[in-house]
Amino acid sequence: MASHALVVGAGALGCTALDQLARAGVGRITIVDRDIVEHTNLQRQSLFDEADAHDALPKAVAARNRLARVNSTIGIDAIIADVTPENAESLVAALRPNIMLDGTDNLDTRYLLNDLAVKHAVPLIYAGVIATRGMQLTILPGRSACLRCVFPEPGAAAQVETCDTVGVLGPAVAIAASLQAAEAIRVLAADAAALASRPLPSLTEFDLSSTRFRTIDLGNLHAPAARAHCPCCGERQFEFLSGSRTRPAARLCGSGAFQIHSAAPRTLALPALGSQLARLGPVQANEFFVRLHPREGVELTVFADARAIIRGIETEAEARALYDRYVGS
Ligand SMILES: [Zn+2]
Repeated sequence: MASHALVVGAGALGCTALDQLARAGVGRITIVDRDIVEHTNLQRQSLFDEADAHDALPKAVAARNRLARVNSTIGIDAIIADVTPENAESLVAALRPNIMLDGTDNLDTRYLLNDLAVKHAVPLIYAGVIATRGMQLTILPGRSACLRCVFPEPGAAAQVETCDTVGVLGPAVAIAASLQAAEAIRVLAADAAALASRPLPSLTEFDLSSTRFRTIDLGNLHAPAARAHCPCCGERQFEFLSGSRTRPAARLCGSGAFQIHSAAPRTLALPALGSQLARLGPVQANEFFVRLHPREGVELTVFADARAIIRGIETEAEARALYDRYVGS
Protein backbone atom coordinates (compact mmCIF):
# COMPACT_ATOMS: atom_id res chain seq x y z
CA MET A 1 0.00 0.00 0.00
CA ALA A 2 2.91 2.35 0.71
CA SER A 3 4.59 1.73 -2.64
CA HIS A 4 4.44 3.39 -6.03
CA ALA A 5 4.72 1.46 -9.30
CA LEU A 6 5.45 3.16 -12.61
CA VAL A 7 4.17 1.08 -15.53
CA VAL A 8 5.46 2.22 -18.91
CA GLY A 9 3.23 0.95 -21.70
CA ALA A 10 -0.43 0.03 -21.24
CA GLY A 11 -0.51 -2.42 -24.12
CA ALA A 12 -0.84 -6.16 -23.75
CA LEU A 13 1.81 -6.67 -21.03
CA GLY A 14 0.88 -3.49 -19.20
CA CYS A 15 -2.83 -4.30 -19.07
CA THR A 16 -2.35 -7.65 -17.34
CA ALA A 17 0.37 -6.44 -14.99
CA LEU A 18 -1.61 -3.30 -14.08
CA ASP A 19 -4.73 -5.31 -13.32
CA GLN A 20 -2.82 -7.55 -10.92
CA LEU A 21 -0.93 -4.72 -9.22
CA ALA A 22 -4.15 -2.76 -8.68
CA ARG A 23 -5.97 -5.79 -7.27
CA ALA A 24 -2.97 -6.59 -5.05
CA GLY A 25 -3.32 -3.12 -3.54
CA VAL A 26 -0.16 -1.34 -4.68
CA GLY A 27 -1.00 2.04 -3.19
CA ARG A 28 -0.06 4.26 -6.09
CA ILE A 29 0.23 3.36 -9.75
CA THR A 30 1.30 5.66 -12.58
CA ILE A 31 0.48 4.55 -16.12
CA VAL A 32 2.38 6.07 -19.03
CA ASP A 33 1.28 5.26 -22.57
CA ARG A 34 1.42 7.06 -25.91
CA ASP A 35 -1.35 5.40 -27.89
CA ILE A 36 -5.12 5.12 -28.30
CA VAL A 37 -7.29 2.02 -27.84
CA GLU A 38 -8.24 0.33 -31.12
CA HIS A 39 -10.49 -2.62 -31.87
CA THR A 40 -7.49 -4.71 -32.97
CA ASN A 41 -6.02 -4.39 -29.43
CA LEU A 42 -8.87 -6.19 -27.72
CA GLN A 43 -7.55 -9.68 -28.51
CA ARG A 44 -4.81 -9.25 -25.90
CA GLN A 45 -5.19 -5.93 -24.02
CA SER A 46 -7.40 -7.07 -21.20
CA LEU A 47 -8.28 -3.76 -19.53
CA PHE A 48 -10.08 -2.39 -22.60
CA ASP A 49 -13.45 -3.04 -24.20
CA GLU A 50 -15.29 -2.14 -27.39
CA ALA A 51 -16.58 1.10 -25.91
CA ASP A 52 -13.00 2.30 -25.21
CA ALA A 53 -12.05 1.55 -28.82
CA HIS A 54 -15.20 3.20 -30.15
CA ASP A 55 -14.51 6.31 -28.05
CA ALA A 56 -10.83 6.23 -29.12
CA LEU A 57 -9.70 6.74 -25.51
CA PRO A 58 -5.97 7.02 -24.80
CA LYS A 59 -4.82 3.71 -23.34
CA ALA A 60 -3.47 5.35 -20.18
CA VAL A 61 -6.88 6.96 -19.52
CA ALA A 62 -8.92 3.86 -20.38
CA ALA A 63 -6.69 1.75 -18.13
CA ARG A 64 -6.98 4.24 -15.25
CA ASN A 65 -10.79 4.38 -15.62
CA ARG A 66 -11.03 0.61 -15.52
CA LEU A 67 -8.64 0.17 -12.57
CA ALA A 68 -10.42 2.87 -10.58
CA ARG A 69 -13.53 0.66 -10.75
CA VAL A 70 -11.46 -2.37 -9.68
CA ASN A 71 -9.87 -0.80 -6.60
CA SER A 72 -11.03 2.62 -5.45
CA THR A 73 -8.70 2.61 -2.42
CA ILE A 74 -5.52 3.18 -4.44
CA GLY A 75 -4.24 6.21 -6.37
CA ILE A 76 -3.92 5.84 -10.14
CA ASP A 77 -2.49 8.46 -12.48
CA ALA A 78 -2.53 8.41 -16.27
CA ILE A 79 0.09 10.18 -18.38
CA ILE A 80 -0.38 10.33 -22.16
CA ALA A 81 3.19 10.48 -23.41
CA ASP A 82 6.01 8.61 -25.03
CA VAL A 83 8.95 8.00 -22.69
CA THR A 84 11.97 9.55 -24.43
CA PRO A 85 15.49 10.71 -23.52
CA GLU A 86 13.99 14.21 -23.11
CA ASN A 87 11.39 13.37 -20.47
CA ALA A 88 12.48 10.07 -18.85
CA GLU A 89 14.62 11.47 -16.06
CA SER A 90 12.24 14.25 -15.09
CA LEU A 91 9.45 11.66 -14.96
CA VAL A 92 11.37 9.55 -12.45
CA ALA A 93 12.51 12.61 -10.48
CA ALA A 94 8.92 13.82 -10.19
CA LEU A 95 7.28 10.45 -9.47
CA ARG A 96 10.00 8.76 -7.41
CA PRO A 97 8.62 5.26 -8.10
CA ASN A 98 9.69 2.27 -5.97
CA ILE A 99 9.59 0.03 -9.03
CA MET A 100 9.19 0.23 -12.82
CA LEU A 101 7.53 -2.30 -15.11
CA ASP A 102 8.43 -2.43 -18.79
CA GLY A 103 5.24 -2.90 -20.79
CA THR A 104 6.59 -1.45 -24.02
CA ASP A 105 6.94 -3.09 -27.39
CA ASN A 106 10.04 -1.49 -28.87
CA LEU A 107 13.72 -1.98 -28.12
CA ASP A 108 14.66 1.69 -28.01
CA THR A 109 12.34 2.31 -25.07
CA ARG A 110 13.30 -0.96 -23.38
CA TYR A 111 17.01 -0.04 -23.34
CA LEU A 112 16.10 3.50 -22.33
CA LEU A 113 14.19 2.13 -19.32
CA ASN A 114 17.18 -0.07 -18.44
CA ASP A 115 19.44 3.00 -18.42
CA LEU A 116 16.89 4.90 -16.37
CA ALA A 117 16.53 2.09 -13.81
CA VAL A 118 20.28 1.63 -13.33
CA LYS A 119 21.09 5.35 -13.19
CA HIS A 120 18.36 6.12 -10.67
CA ALA A 121 18.56 2.78 -8.78
CA VAL A 122 14.93 1.79 -9.34
CA PRO A 123 14.21 -1.95 -9.74
CA LEU A 124 12.97 -2.74 -13.26
CA ILE A 125 10.80 -5.70 -14.17
CA TYR A 126 11.30 -6.58 -17.83
CA ALA A 127 9.18 -8.89 -19.98
CA GLY A 128 8.88 -9.51 -23.70
CA VAL A 129 6.54 -11.58 -25.86
CA ILE A 130 6.44 -12.56 -29.52
CA ALA A 131 4.13 -15.12 -31.13
CA THR A 132 3.84 -17.97 -28.56
CA ARG A 133 7.11 -17.19 -26.75
CA GLY A 134 7.88 -14.96 -23.80
CA MET A 135 10.61 -14.05 -21.34
CA GLN A 136 10.94 -12.24 -18.04
CA LEU A 137 13.94 -10.71 -16.27
CA THR A 138 14.16 -8.73 -13.03
CA ILE A 139 16.82 -6.03 -12.80
CA LEU A 140 17.92 -4.99 -9.30
CA PRO A 141 20.32 -2.08 -9.87
CA GLY A 142 23.60 -2.44 -8.05
CA ARG A 143 22.95 -6.12 -7.29
CA SER A 144 21.97 -8.00 -10.41
CA ALA A 145 22.83 -8.05 -14.10
CA CYS A 146 21.03 -5.42 -16.15
CA LEU A 147 19.41 -5.85 -19.58
CA ARG A 148 22.66 -4.90 -21.32
CA CYS A 149 24.66 -7.41 -19.25
CA VAL A 150 22.42 -10.14 -20.67
CA PHE A 151 21.73 -8.68 -24.14
CA PRO A 152 24.51 -6.13 -24.73
CA GLU A 153 22.99 -4.64 -27.89
CA PRO A 154 19.34 -4.31 -28.93
CA GLY A 155 20.10 -6.41 -32.03
CA ALA A 156 21.17 -9.34 -29.86
CA ALA A 157 17.80 -9.50 -28.19
CA ALA A 158 15.80 -8.68 -31.28
CA GLN A 159 13.81 -11.30 -33.06
CA VAL A 160 13.66 -11.35 -36.83
CA GLU A 161 9.95 -11.72 -36.35
CA THR A 162 7.94 -8.76 -35.14
CA CYS A 163 4.40 -8.52 -33.88
CA ASP A 164 3.54 -7.15 -37.34
CA THR A 165 4.61 -10.36 -39.04
CA VAL A 166 3.86 -13.15 -36.57
CA GLY A 167 1.47 -11.59 -34.07
CA VAL A 168 1.22 -12.23 -30.34
CA LEU A 169 -0.80 -14.94 -28.62
CA GLY A 170 -2.95 -13.43 -25.86
CA PRO A 171 -2.24 -16.17 -23.28
CA ALA A 172 1.53 -15.78 -23.81
CA VAL A 173 1.21 -12.12 -22.91
CA ALA A 174 -0.84 -12.93 -19.83
CA ILE A 175 1.83 -15.37 -18.59
CA ALA A 176 4.75 -13.01 -19.16
CA ALA A 177 2.88 -10.13 -17.52
CA SER A 178 1.86 -12.32 -14.60
CA LEU A 179 5.51 -13.24 -14.03
CA GLN A 180 6.24 -9.49 -14.10
CA ALA A 181 3.49 -8.71 -11.58
CA ALA A 182 4.62 -11.55 -9.29
CA GLU A 183 8.19 -10.24 -9.33
CA ALA A 184 6.99 -6.68 -8.71
CA ILE A 185 4.94 -7.77 -5.70
CA ARG A 186 7.87 -9.82 -4.34
CA VAL A 187 10.25 -6.87 -4.63
CA LEU A 188 7.79 -4.35 -3.18
CA ALA A 189 6.75 -6.57 -0.29
CA ALA A 190 10.30 -7.49 0.70
CA ASP A 191 12.15 -5.49 3.32
CA ALA A 192 15.82 -4.69 2.69
CA ALA A 193 17.03 -7.81 4.53
CA ALA A 194 14.69 -10.10 2.58
CA LEU A 195 15.72 -8.48 -0.69
CA ALA A 196 19.40 -8.86 0.15
CA SER A 197 19.04 -12.53 1.02
CA ARG A 198 16.95 -13.62 -1.97
CA PRO A 199 18.75 -15.40 -4.83
CA LEU A 200 19.68 -13.14 -7.71
CA PRO A 201 17.21 -13.22 -10.61
CA SER A 202 17.26 -15.82 -13.36
CA LEU A 203 15.98 -15.34 -16.90
CA THR A 204 12.67 -17.15 -17.40
CA GLU A 205 11.64 -18.24 -20.90
CA PHE A 206 8.60 -20.13 -22.14
CA ASP A 207 6.99 -21.27 -25.35
CA LEU A 208 3.28 -22.03 -25.42
CA SER A 209 3.57 -23.98 -28.66
CA SER A 210 4.75 -26.78 -26.38
CA THR A 211 3.94 -25.34 -22.92
CA ARG A 212 7.64 -25.54 -22.09
CA PHE A 213 9.29 -23.36 -19.44
CA ARG A 214 13.00 -22.84 -18.97
CA THR A 215 14.90 -20.96 -16.27
CA ILE A 216 18.35 -19.75 -17.26
CA ASP A 217 20.74 -19.19 -14.38
CA LEU A 218 22.62 -16.00 -15.24
CA GLY A 219 25.53 -17.26 -13.15
CA ASN A 220 28.50 -14.96 -13.03
CA LEU A 221 26.77 -12.25 -15.10
CA HIS A 222 25.62 -10.89 -11.74
CA ALA A 223 29.13 -10.67 -10.32
CA PRO A 224 30.55 -7.13 -10.00
CA ALA A 225 33.64 -8.22 -11.96
CA ALA A 226 31.49 -9.32 -14.90
CA ARG A 227 29.28 -6.25 -14.70
CA ALA A 228 32.29 -3.92 -14.70
CA HIS A 229 32.44 -4.32 -18.49
CA CYS A 230 28.76 -3.53 -19.06
CA PRO A 231 28.42 -0.10 -20.72
CA CYS A 232 25.31 0.59 -18.62
CA CYS A 233 25.67 -0.79 -15.09
CA GLY A 234 29.47 -1.13 -15.14
CA GLU A 235 30.77 1.91 -17.00
CA ARG A 236 27.60 3.93 -16.35
CA GLN A 237 27.46 5.26 -19.89
CA PHE A 238 23.75 5.71 -20.34
CA GLU A 239 23.75 5.81 -24.12
CA PHE A 240 20.03 5.29 -24.60
CA LEU A 241 19.10 7.81 -21.91
CA SER A 242 21.46 10.41 -23.34
CA GLY A 243 19.74 10.07 -26.71
CA SER A 244 22.91 9.19 -28.58
CA ARG A 245 21.57 5.75 -29.48
CA THR A 246 17.86 6.27 -29.93
CA ARG A 247 16.36 6.36 -33.40
CA PRO A 248 14.12 9.41 -33.70
CA ALA A 249 11.05 8.07 -35.47
CA ALA A 250 9.13 5.02 -34.51
CA ARG A 251 7.04 2.65 -36.52
CA LEU A 252 4.50 1.47 -33.98
CA CYS A 253 4.55 -2.26 -33.58
CA GLY A 254 1.53 -4.15 -34.83
CA SER A 255 -0.46 -1.17 -36.02
CA GLY A 256 1.11 -0.07 -39.32
CA ALA A 257 1.44 3.45 -37.94
CA PHE A 258 4.20 5.97 -37.41
CA GLN A 259 4.77 8.23 -34.44
CA ILE A 260 6.38 11.60 -35.04
CA HIS A 261 7.73 13.82 -32.27
CA SER A 262 8.00 17.57 -32.35
CA ALA A 263 11.58 18.70 -33.06
CA ALA A 264 11.64 20.61 -29.77
CA PRO A 265 9.52 19.95 -26.66
CA ARG A 266 6.31 22.01 -26.77
CA THR A 267 2.72 21.87 -25.62
CA LEU A 268 -0.14 22.43 -28.04
CA ALA A 269 -3.41 24.16 -27.28
CA LEU A 270 -5.66 21.43 -28.67
CA PRO A 271 -8.85 23.55 -29.03
CA ALA A 272 -6.97 26.12 -31.11
CA LEU A 273 -5.37 23.43 -33.26
CA GLY A 274 -8.78 21.78 -33.67
CA SER A 275 -10.44 24.92 -34.98
CA GLN A 276 -7.49 25.60 -37.26
CA LEU A 277 -7.60 22.10 -38.75
CA ALA A 278 -11.42 22.13 -38.97
CA ARG A 279 -11.07 24.61 -41.84
CA LEU A 280 -9.42 21.81 -43.85
CA GLY A 281 -12.00 19.10 -43.25
CA PRO A 282 -13.94 17.20 -40.61
CA VAL A 283 -12.08 16.97 -37.30
CA GLN A 284 -12.63 14.64 -34.36
CA ALA A 285 -11.53 16.28 -31.12
CA ASN A 286 -11.73 15.58 -27.41
CA GLU A 287 -9.74 16.63 -24.34
CA PHE A 288 -6.90 14.26 -25.30
CA PHE A 289 -6.34 14.69 -29.05
CA VAL A 290 -7.36 16.23 -32.38
CA ARG A 291 -7.83 13.86 -35.32
CA LEU A 292 -8.02 14.66 -39.01
CA HIS A 293 -8.19 12.58 -42.17
CA PRO A 294 -5.88 14.40 -44.61
CA ARG A 295 -7.14 12.07 -47.35
CA GLU A 296 -9.12 8.86 -47.74
CA GLY A 297 -7.60 6.10 -45.57
CA VAL A 298 -5.07 8.32 -43.81
CA GLU A 299 -5.54 9.33 -40.18
CA LEU A 300 -3.52 11.95 -38.29
CA THR A 301 -3.93 12.09 -34.50
CA VAL A 302 -2.23 14.94 -32.63
CA PHE A 303 -1.71 14.97 -28.85
CA ALA A 304 -1.13 17.88 -26.49
CA ASP A 305 2.57 16.99 -26.18
CA ALA A 306 2.90 17.79 -29.91
CA ARG A 307 3.26 14.16 -30.84
CA ALA A 308 1.32 12.72 -33.76
CA ILE A 309 0.40 9.17 -34.71
CA ILE A 310 -0.19 8.76 -38.42
CA ARG A 311 -1.89 5.70 -39.87
CA GLY A 312 -2.50 4.57 -43.42
CA ILE A 313 0.80 5.63 -44.98
CA GLU A 314 3.82 3.63 -46.09
CA THR A 315 6.95 5.58 -45.18
CA GLU A 316 8.38 7.61 -42.35
CA ALA A 317 9.20 10.41 -44.81
CA GLU A 318 5.53 10.74 -45.70
CA ALA A 319 4.59 10.69 -42.02
CA ARG A 320 7.03 13.53 -41.33
CA ALA A 321 5.73 15.50 -44.31
CA LEU A 322 2.14 15.23 -43.06
CA TYR A 323 3.26 16.21 -39.56
CA ASP A 324 5.06 19.32 -40.80
CA ARG A 325 2.12 20.30 -42.94
CA TYR A 326 -0.63 19.97 -40.36
CA VAL A 327 1.09 20.34 -36.98
CA GLY A 328 4.11 22.45 -37.94
CA SER A 329 7.64 21.74 -36.77
ZN1 LIG B 1 24.70 -4.21 -17.03
